Amino acid sequence: MTDTDNSQPSGMTKRSFLQSVGMIGGTAAVMTALQGWEMGFASEMDRPPEMSTDGKGKKVIILGAGLAGMVLAFEMAKKGYKTQIIEALDYAGGRCVSARKGSVIEEVGSEKQVCNFQDGNYVNYGPWRIPAEHKSTIYYCRTLGVPLEVMVNKTGKSYYYYENKEGPFKGVPIRQEHADIDFKGYSTELLAKVADQGALDQLISQEDKEMLLTHLKRSGLIDSKEFNYRANRARGHSSYPGAGTNFGKLSEPYEMADVLSIANASRNETADHPAVMFQAVGGMDQIAQGLKRALKKSQIRYNSEITDIVQDDNGVKVTYKNTKNGRVRSEEADYLISTAPLGVMQKIKINLSEDMAAAIKATSGSPACKIGVEFNHRFWEQNDMIYGGVTSTDIPGHRILSYPSGNLFGSAHGDTGVILGYYPIGGQSVPISNLSMAERTEFALSVGEKIHPGNYRKYFTGESISVAWHKMKYALAGWENWSRRGRTRSFPVMQKGDNRIFISGNIASPALGGWMAGAIEGAWSTMEVIDKRVAQQG
Ligand SMILES: Cc1cc2nc3c(=O)[nH]c(=O)nc-3n(C[C@H](O)[C@H](O)[C@H](O)COP(=O)(O)OP(=O)(O)OC[C@H]3O[C@@H](n4cnc5c(N)ncnc54)[C@H](O)[C@@H]3O)c2cc1C
Repeated sequence: MTDTDNSQPSGMTKRSFLQSVGMIGGTAAVMTALQGWEMGFASEMDRPPEMSTDGKGKKVIILGAGLAGMVLAFEMAKKGYKTQIIEALDYAGGRCVSARKGSVIEEVGSEKQVCNFQDGNYVNYGPWRIPAEHKSTIYYCRTLGVPLEVMVNKTGKSYYYYENKEGPFKGVPIRQEHADIDFKGYSTELLAKVADQGALDQLISQEDKEMLLTHLKRSGLIDSKEFNYRANRARGHSSYPGAGTNFGKLSEPYEMADVLSIANASRNETADHPAVMFQAVGGMDQIAQGLKRALKKSQIRYNSEITDIVQDDNGVKVTYKNTKNGRVRSEEADYLISTAPLGVMQKIKINLSEDMAAAIKATSGSPACKIGVEFNHRFWEQNDMIYGGVTSTDIPGHRILSYPSGNLFGSAHGDTGVILGYYPIGGQSVPISNLSMAERTEFALSVGEKIHPGNYRKYFTGESISVAWHKMKYALAGWENWSRRGRTRSFPVMQKGDNRIFISGNIASPALGGWMAGAIEGAWSTMEVIDKRVAQQG
């Protein structure tokens, strides 16, 4: 979409229009305008919004010490609100969490797991990658001093592995650079040939056709006379060049029909899943830890599950239960902001209006599973030249295997590392989550061994840790999705709040569902809505 897209008021650029909307209606209005254009507002939000008023000492209880809850507590306290987070778990971060030595994972109805990875090893079993365009996430990392490093999301050396497609690639790991470049090479060949034969003459001018052909020939993928795709340096070598007269040998492309049979492998990555992404050094939970450090200790009350919320025109009363000793307490405030996923919130007894009660049922939760598998030798680097990146498979319930981008070459803490052994999402993850922990590990090992035969089992340390997010009591899903109808009908009801109760967190950013940026920017938009209310009504 261009800056002069005609779905916006004439004579204004998109940016100036959004600035005007923001001045009048705040973040929430900007978000609504952007949703009208079917785009997220992340790219426009790179810092917390300026608020119109001070908090006038109003007390706000925040349900949940995930990223959204902590952003709310931090930013609203700066503005003179009294903020108190009440958190059911014994740690801050919610879904922004990593497992390392000593971490405990307890799913509902599954065995309790205690992570026993070697020092320095971890797995991000929640968020694991940040794109450059998530300025809001990067804003907090920068301002709170949480170091980020490159997360290699795509490497040509990783594999595609298909065993449910007939043909020569069935059950054979193939390098992504080979499949991707062959697909591009054959596409280049076909385009050059049809352009040369005049098939595009009705579509482009003679001058543009010549420029197109020049560009295609310069790609190095096709020969300049017949336009046939051929071995090339982008695809790389089967025997590597070296000193003296060793010029190596270029690898031979696969057959076109074979490449087309797995064409869906070499799809374009989206702008929010580029090859180079970012991660927090030492584990993504460091972002949550950064926010926690920015708060006063007393601002988070742990092990406290909110069970009842009662509101009237003057305020809100919250009842919570200590999850360790069962003691029940209550606390009153002017406002309550819930950052719990909606599936969890539905289990709390609350006197909501009919519209709001319906709105919080409008999303659907997406199941998601992950496993971290530990190895005592970085064979994927030393044997396969794979440094970070993701291998994709078509094995039901598996989907991907991702190599660690930290401790590359074993330079930080030795020749050891944790591979993300599978990451199914949606319905595919349910059968996996029904397995015992030992069966889940065996499933991950059996797939890994097909991709790295002779190594995957050999170097496994015996330690793994897995999670099924839809079985975690205070998440009940990896994330939640809004339907198109839910976005237009229920979301606006939820966004404006219900008397003294507001709903925030990742769920408040439909365009950024399943991203930390959604939690952060959701918090920003909610605090603006409350701030306006306080300015108007007190
Ligand atoms: C598998 C997976 C992969 C992901 N990958 C990425 C990624 O690569 N990049 C990215 O940017 N994002 C990713 N995300 C998304 C990101 O982790 C979330 O959007 C974000 O952490 C949500 O933060 P939140 O504060 O909105 O919610 P939460 O973190 O869920 O916080 C809610 C808090 O409320 C607490 N709570 C719930 N019920 C109660 C109750 N009754 N009483 C008291 N407390 C309660 C919970 O314990 C929790 O701490 C991923 C998430 C998952 C699960």
